[in-house]
Order: sequence, then structure tokens, then C-alpha cells
Amino acid sequence: MRKNIVAGNWKMNTTVAEGVALAKEVNEALAGAAPKCDVVVCVPFTHLCPVAAAIDQTRLGLGAENCADHKSGAYTGEVSAPMVASTGATYVILGHSERRQYYGETSETLREKVALALENGLTPIFCIGEVLEERENGTFNEVVRKQVEEGLFNLSAEDFGKIVLAYEPVWAIGTGKTATPEQAEDMHAWIRSVIAGKYGNEVAENTSILYGGSCKPGNAAELFAKPDIDGGLIGGAALKCADFMGIVNAF
Ligand code: PEP
Repeated sequence: MRKNIVAGNWKMNTTVAEGVALAKEVNEALAGAAPKCDVVVCVPFTHLCPVAAAIDQTRLGLGAENCADHKSGAYTGEVSAPMVASTGATYVILGHSERRQYYGETSETLREKVALALENGLTPIFCIGEVLEERENGTFNEVVRKQVEEGLFNLSAEDFGKIVLAYEPVWAIGTGKTATPEQAEDMHAWIRSVIAGKYGNEVAENTSILYGGSCKPGNAAELFAKPDIDGGLIGGAALKCADFMGIVNAF
């Protein structure tokens, strides 16, 4: 059975003190909430150790927002998958559209990152999604199929089973413009069919596919009610405990 997951992506926001306070607030809110999904916060590298020390990870999972495409060595400024794992984090966002767009991440580098994440026991939250032009010119299904195939289809079925996917239409990220539940459901069902074509129905049915892009307390329930939407990757609304919990409680 696939899991329902709500994961926050804090991006490059909050100081360490602010981040620890936010994580503690979410951790405490979850203690009395009995959520119907797994809840995760993905935080800046600087925040991983102090947040790990401040939360109960049986209640609130912890992840990084990226990791390097090399294990160790002369890569000044990079943070490796073993380093992330050594903080106690268990998730890592990979292939976010901001990483693809601003830092030139390609399917080739992402394959390395995914392999290193898995080797180090991290669960990749692998992001895919089309830009506005591709939505408007009708190529969006093919664009997303290619991202999934090129980034992940080198994996064995066993390893693919450890991946969480996040469909994030780039035109909906941070824009306030959410995909309609129908647009999102159509894409999630398409992604699942692409997975089934490679790994079979069982693997496809067991893969959690999250939606990301201006998901808020006011639209989460409608999105999560769709059969192929297994939760959300949340940017802006993850920075306020009440908003994030509103989304968690939408399940
Ligand atoms: C994201 O960046 O992963 C995201 C979904 O952002 P937002 O919720 O702010 O659109």
C-alpha cells in the first residue's frame, strides 16, 4: 500500500533559530493531531542537525532539499548524501524545478544523486513537472514521461519502490496558480501508467505521487481526494505551522 505524505520544502528561508522554532511548533502540533499521512519537513542543510535534535522523527520526518552528485572529495560548497544521512535526516528532495532551472541539474546528474541517496538510506522525493509553455502547447505528458524515464528508469524495481515522486507543474510553483484537481489527477494517473509500463502494476500502485504547486489549506482536500494524488510537496504554506497543519489535516 502506498503512503500518503505531506512534505514541506522550506527552500532558502528561515535562520537556524527560526527554523528550529518552526520545526518544534509543527512537531508539537502533530503530537495532538493523529494525522492520516506521514509528515516531513525538508530544510536547508544548516538546519538539519539542530532540527533533528529538536523533533521526534517517529512523528515528523526530516529531509534535505538537495544533495551532491558525488560521494566525497574536492567539491567545495557541496553537501553529500552520506553527510545528509549522518545528520539523522531520512529524506532528500531531488530534481526540484528550481534546481533544474537555476543550477543546471540534468537527468544525468540526477541519476547520480538518486543512486547516492539510495545507497545512504535516504528516500528521494523526486520532482518532475512541465513549464507553462509545455502545458500550453500540449506536450506536458511527454515532457513528464521523459523526466521520469531519464531520471529513474535505470533503477531496479526494488530501488524504484523506494522513490517518492512529486508532480510539480512549474507554472504553479509559488505563483498562487494551482493545477485544478482534474489536471493534477490526469497527470498523476498518466505518471502511474508510465511506471506500470516499465515496472508493472504492483510497483505503480505502490508508488506515492505527491502534488506540489501553490497547495494551501483551502485547496488541499480537493486535491487529496483524487485517487492518484497521495499528498503534497508544500513550499510557501510550509513556512507557517497553521497553514502546514491545515494541509496535513486535509487528509
Ligand atoms: C515547491 O517549491 O515545491 C512548491 C510546491 O512551492 P509552493 O507551494 O510555494 O508553490
